[in-house]
Amino acid sequence: MKHTRINAATMGQMNRNMIFKLIQKTPSITRREISKLTGLDPSTVTRITTKLMDEGFVKEEGEKVTNQPGRKGISLFPIKDAAVSIVIKIGIENTIFGLGYLDKTLEIIEEIPTIRQSDMFLTVCVEKLNDILNKYSKDKNIIGISFSIPGIVEPNEGKIITAPHLNWNDVKLKSTIEENIERKDLFIIMTNEARLSLLSEIFFNRLVKNLQSIVYIFISQGVGGALYLNGKIYEGATNSSGEIGHMTISETGALCHCGNRGCWETFVSIDSVVTSYELSNNSLSGSNYKEKYANLLKRTEQNDINAKKILNIMVHNLAIGISNVVNIINPHAIVIGGIGEKIPENYIDQLQVEVQHSSLAFAGKQIKIMKAKIDIDRACLYGCTITAMEKFTDIVTI
Ligand SMILES: [Zn+2]
Repeated sequence: MKHTRINAATMGQMNRNMIFKLIQKTPSITRREISKLTGLDPSTVTRITTKLMDEGFVKEEGEKVTNQPGRKGISLFPIKDAAVSIVIKIGIENTIFGLGYLDKTLEIIEEIPTIRQSDMFLTVCVEKLNDILNKYSKDKNIIGISFSIPGIVEPNEGKIITAPHLNWNDVKLKSTIEENIERKDLFIIMTNEARLSLLSEIFFNRLVKNLQSIVYIFISQGVGGALYLNGKIYEGATNSSGEIGHMTISETGALCHCGNRGCWETFVSIDSVVTSYELSNNSLSGSNYKEKYANLLKRTEQNDINAKKILNIMVHNLAIGISNVVNIINPHAIVIGGIGEKIPENYIDQLQVEVQHSSLAFAGKQIKIMKAKIDIDRACLYGCTITAMEKFTDIVTI
């Protein structure tokens, strides 16, 4: 008897979480559509959505006209302010603080330079978090803190195992924040930046939303990656999957941040591309690599032959790595993101042709290579919001 009760409660919780996530993912969805998508009977859907409205998480707004005549339904939406997460993108050059809302909107609060010394960074981070909590706790239902990390994390212990470009190793992010912030009731989560960006694309980009396998290539000062296989993020045995930037392309090549030589990222990261342009040409204006890379792209538009040559080499080197990935994973799509989403469309077309040419015919002929829809900073921060709201949905017990 006891077992039956536990199972019924668990089932109720699972149904509630499934419906709540569906409303968050598909705003304007109707009860009838929920019932159809989940297989739950309409009375269960009505009971759960009524409860979610009573709890203040969901609202009804307007009638949705469907393509079936006479089948109007009331649209359901998540309520923006019902849950708010502090979202933080730790970047190699800058760190951005913002708020992410239940309806997946974002508000950016502040951007500061990332302090290279991890202890000092954490001290400043705690100060900023306490400022944000003091300012917003009264009016907003802050539920947690969600970090985007430029490296490999151990999510259960809340540690950054390594962030090679910052030279951070074994940084106890979660416990340090937990001990020093003024509110102790918040969850703290952290996720690799490429995975967060991939989650954002799956959430917001119609072109990839329904694909079952996607490889996201996060081009920045390094090259990260994230794998979405059979409808799920693939984490790997020790949560470090997707580090495609460190596949060896030339074992006698340049020294990489990871300690090996000739990793793919030493050929295609934006700092390597900017540096190779500057070595053979004039220096590019800009105070950081992101700005210099933007200027390099501008020069290709202005028909600077050397800039075009450098970008062609970048595309060729991208094609070598992507062909390896296509042969091994056989994904439906490759999404070029991070700062890579700034690459002009004609170079992406060229990349598509090169990859199709150099990968195995059967895998290569169907591959779609596309740019990410969301820019690097927002992709990470939206991803932080998505993971925070998933966590929030899962931990609220009914
Ligand atoms: Zn490497």
